[in-house]
Amino acid sequence: MSAGLNLAQLEAVNHLGGPCLVLAGAGSGKTRVITHKIARLIQAGLAADRIAAITFTNKAAAEMRERAGQLVGRDAKKVLICTFHALGVRLLREDGEALGLKKQFSILDTDDITSLLKDCGTTTDAATARQWQWAISAWKSAGLNAAAALAQARDESERTTALIMQRYEERLVAYQAVDFDDLIALPLKLLSEHAEVREKWQKKMGHVLVDEYQDTNATQYELLKLLVGERARFTAVGDDDQSIYGWRGATLDNLKRLPQDFPELKVIKLEQNYRSTSAILRAANNVIGPNPKLYPKTLWSELGEGEPVRVVDADNEEHEAERAVLRIQGLRANSQHKEWRDFAVLYRANHQARSFEQALRKAQIPYKVSGGQSFFDKAEIRDLCAWLRLITNNDDDPAFLRAATTPKRGIGHTTLQQLGAFATQYKLSLFAALFSHSLPSAVSGRAIAALHEFGRQVNDLEYRARHTVGHEAARAFLTEWLKDIGYEQHLFDNEDNDKVAAARWGNVQEFCDWVAGRCGGQIDDAAGTQVESERKSLLEVVQTIALISTLSEREQDQNVVTLSTLHASKGLEWPHVVLAGVNEGLLPFKIDDEEAGGEAQLVRIQEERRLMYVGITRAQRTLAVSWLKRRKKGRESVPGAPSRFIAEMALDKATVKEDPREKLKALRAEFAKRAQDGADASKAQA
Ligand code: ATP
Ligand code: MG
Repeated sequence: MSAGLNLAQLEAVNHLGGPCLVLAGAGSGKTRVITHKIARLIQAGLAADRIAAITFTNKAAAEMRERAGQLVGRDAKKVLICTFHALGVRLLREDGEALGLKKQFSILDTDDITSLLKDCGTTTDAATARQWQWAISAWKSAGLNAAAALAQARDESERTTALIMQRYEERLVAYQAVDFDDLIALPLKLLSEHAEVREKWQKKMGHVLVDEYQDTNATQYELLKLLVGERARFTAVGDDDQSIYGWRGATLDNLKRLPQDFPELKVIKLEQNYRSTSAILRAANNVIGPNPKLYPKTLWSELGEGEPVRVVDADNEEHEAERAVLRIQGLRANSQHKEWRDFAVLYRANHQARSFEQALRKAQIPYKVSGGQSFFDKAEIRDLCAWLRLITNNDDDPAFLRAATTPKRGIGHTTLQQLGAFATQYKLSLFAALFSHSLPSAVSGRAIAALHEFGRQVNDLEYRARHTVGHEAARAFLTEWLKDIGYEQHLFDNEDNDKVAAARWGNVQEFCDWVAGRCGGQIDDAAGTQVESERKSLLEVVQTIALISTLSEREQDQNVVTLSTLHASKGLEWPHVVLAGVNEGLLPFKIDDEEAGGEAQLVRIQEERRLMYVGITRAQRTLAVSWLKRRKKGRESVPGAPSRFIAEMALDKATVKEDPREKLKALRAEFAKRAQDGADASKAQA
């Protein structure tokens, strides 16, 4: 159990009785502490289903589940390993009724919300709606509801937004739907206002572990506090230098508040990096140096100096991609890390992937783009999700509108408007309005027949889905359903190019396989052997789809080059990394004129610098940093300048090299002493 942990890590893993914070730099084994601590807690007798480990992404959760599985076997399946949002779903599904939310509530995705807000604010302008969305989300993650936002509004524009938020909140209640921020805000409300629910969860949570703690926001922190209660059995791990979600409301205050809110907090620091060579770490340490610190730390590594970090200047995007491909091919021929999965190209913004995709395709190198457009954003998948959501939650009006018109079934815009007005008048959901006796007063006879046929179909599907459990039954159901609604025909009718339609139909099949796979039962695991996993009903699975942004669990074992945004690369590592487009204006990302020179700019640059630090520290063996001498800006090509962060890596300066072995010796002596002191203390107690 203690295998593969250093003394400081062991100390964190063995601190079971109270709050613990591991504050440490990149690659120092924080995530490893969490997985090993799960095993340790189980070994110490805590039931696996009383442990919750919270990760930043679903993908990280899947990986942690696998690692924990290797350490403790079957019990790992019972541990609740998920994101804060998925935990929120769990809380709301079990106890949301106390807030008037039914178990089959829907989770709206970003596009649904944009169109809902257009409606609430009576505008057709998506950009304006997205601004409201942004503002409302910021208020929600700061813990404000519409009334509170209205009370503190500083000008007319904020007042307008708060009023729109009020309408938006009412709509969500009517639809029995929640947005992403609600998945934190509502559980928080639930636990703070309902003592019996709070006590239930505090009793259940024997230990809560949180990875990437530096990127939690204010409401997540409050939720954590309520979950762990007075006993405060939790372990948070994080790195202030890797906080890169400030723009989404994450706050480093959460790190500062921990020791104040929990005076008995045990703080453990890790400084040995097990991931990267000294050359890479030095560049990382140099870059992050100028940023203000919560506490000073310098990472060191025993992996040797390694290859120097390369800076590549490219003529333009195409040239940059060509050189990256050449580098990958060269390293693959000469390094011991020869798999495609050993390589990653990281960049600041999604659109930067394009030239790399083209170059990799040309060279016939397999790759995947992560953190880009989600599989679930594709129109065909959104269609199917709308249907599945409506089947699960009949009150979900946005899903109703999409499903009722896709595929076309004689329900037109006018009919929907009439139905909508009728539903509003009688305070019914669109679906409930279908079956009202007085509907004929509002909608014409022919349209009513089409509406009723639609309603009958949804009811029928709901009945069948409810009784569909396990992988095989789910797959059969989905096939039949697609046939019933004529979805394949719809795709081919609406697409001039048959190849495109076939690709869309392929996506639909992939989606159905994936959904069915999540229903459990006899399924093939990654190695191709049949295993029995927990059986779930289709309805249960459908509800969590909105939380998943990629078919990540399937991506894992692909032997392909990764193209990823820096944000999506958090927590991951590759032997060889190319950091691309490291230009002023790209990384750091362009600064708005109004911010220039001010405090806001300073804060932004610091966050961009942390992003650069995250990028550098993903690399294990080699790192190349490339910048563009000319870059595209819209349709133009403009001169480019290397990012200030390249200079900050101070690659050309001879730095005083500490001998890591000396440092290791000193540390070992210190921890041996601490361990001895600890042993003496417990002997004395006994
Ligand atoms: P990040 O800040 O990027 O999230 P982290 O602190 O979570 O990094 P891990 O991902 O847990 O670091 O560990 C980095 C790498 O070092 C992993 O490959 C891990 O297996 C390895 N590692 C961690 N601790 C040890 C150890 N004590 N002995 C050997 N390898 C270790
Ligand atoms: Mg980590």
